[in-house]
Amino acid sequence: MTNIIIGAGVIGLTTALELLERGQDVTLVDQEPQEGLGASFANGGLLTPAMSDPWNAPGIHRHLAEFLFSSSSAIKLRWSAIPSLFAWGGRFLLSSTPARFRAAIAANFELGMYSLGILDEWRARLPLSIDASDVGTLKFFRSSRAFDAVVGVTDLLREQGLDARMLSVEEMIRLEPCLEPIASQLVGAIHYPQDKSGDAYLLCRALADRIRRLGGTFHFGREVHAIELRGGKAIGIDLGEETLRADNIIVAAGTASPGLVKRLGVRLAIKPVKGYSITYEPEPGQRLPAIPVVDDAYHAAVTPLGGRLRSVGTAEFAGGDLHLDRERVDNLTAFMKAVYPQIATAETLATGKPWTGLRPVAADGRPYIGETQTPGLWINSGHGHLGWTLAAGSARLLADLITRTRPEIAPEPYCVMRRA
Ligand SMILES: Cc1cc2nc3c(=O)[nH]c(=O)nc-3n(C[C@H](O)[C@H](O)[C@H](O)COP(=O)(O)OP(=O)(O)OC[C@H]3O[C@@H](n4cnc5c(N)ncnc54)[C@H](O)[C@@H]3O)c2cc1C
Repeated sequence: MTNIIIGAGVIGLTTALELLERGQDVTLVDQEPQEGLGASFANGGLLTPAMSDPWNAPGIHRHLAEFLFSSSSAIKLRWSAIPSLFAWGGRFLLSSTPARFRAAIAANFELGMYSLGILDEWRARLPLSIDASDVGTLKFFRSSRAFDAVVGVTDLLREQGLDARMLSVEEMIRLEPCLEPIASQLVGAIHYPQDKSGDAYLLCRALADRIRRLGGTFHFGREVHAIELRGGKAIGIDLGEETLRADNIIVAAGTASPGLVKRLGVRLAIKPVKGYSITYEPEPGQRLPAIPVVDDAYHAAVTPLGGRLRSVGTAEFAGGDLHLDRERVDNLTAFMKAVYPQIATAETLATGKPWTGLRPVAADGRPYIGETQTPGLWINSGHGHLGWTLAAGSARLLADLITRTRPEIAPEPYCVMRRA
């Protein structure tokens, strides 16, 4: 079978690997000059099934005013984005009932754990240098109230196999001594030892090499204008000056996915949510943290990636805008100083490379993986803030569905034709 994958981000590339390893023919098309330059480029690097909860937790509607008016709020809603969010926003709020929220967490957790197992398998048999770490993640808290609120989600996932260890501040410092300077501000932490971390962009580069060696082909710098149908079946893509044909068309185009399939009657409730990261290269010889930390109060994280540190955070509903907002970059710099004051010296801060990307966020907090009502047209998209965590499992699940192989996990929660 021949397959065209639209999008060479972490989702498109992992899908390509899974299909090629089953002897399928794969062509990837991306408008960028190389792989991994979209949301997968400088993300937080967290591989964290433990943090599978979508952003629309029950009670989110009470925070809408804060999202609109507070400049330091972790989630920012721009007035200009509101008209484009009506239908999606309605589904986002409707999905925040306790039952729907719990269903989304459970689905993401299962897919996340499945993904990490596959990533381990790839790391064991392929040459993958992705600055990976297997020491888990650490979420710390600045108030007992916030700590107690997270315990509910943690208990829920424990029933599904999550390992979560409640730590006192002293125990937390033993695990990550670099947090010592701020110990007096914290009330405790949770260590999630099953979580991992690594650089998604490095995986994209490594997979692109592997894909070429397996016979996959790339068309970079080519924008897909439309998906072509004949007799109600997807048969190819329109690149402007030429058309490419294949048995299957797989849309893995991140935030652009809904626009590509809308004309064909496929509705994907996915919107872009902007985030920021800053990657630092601290001077050699400095003591650096070993474990990724998530600060519950700031909704932000710092991830060690080889000799680098990446701080990441903010969620901004600002349409497709990708400009670097100075205030948001300054907030993230202030966050780095608040977590690791001893590392955030003027010299280290001067090495910071700010970046912004668009998370493809599904209204009900779960990715779309599977076939559409149009034969031959497949979707792997909408992974939101968990795309790196869910990539490998999403790829295997979709490849199973395409090759009519019995999937190892239930595909229903991610069904493309579901209603929120
Ligand atoms: C700031 C930030 C931090 C994050 N941190 C984490 C984290 O710590 N852990 C985690 O699990 N996830 C994280 N994520 C989420 C994760 O990065 C995304 O979910 C994931 O990268 C999405 O991958 P993708 O392949 O779907 O999209 P992308 O990487 O955006 O790839 C889509 C590709 O499609 C191409 N494309 C689009 N339209 C067309 C077209 N018409 N023609 C041709 N090509 C097209 C684009 O050029 C792009 O290369 C973070 C995201 C952001 C923004």
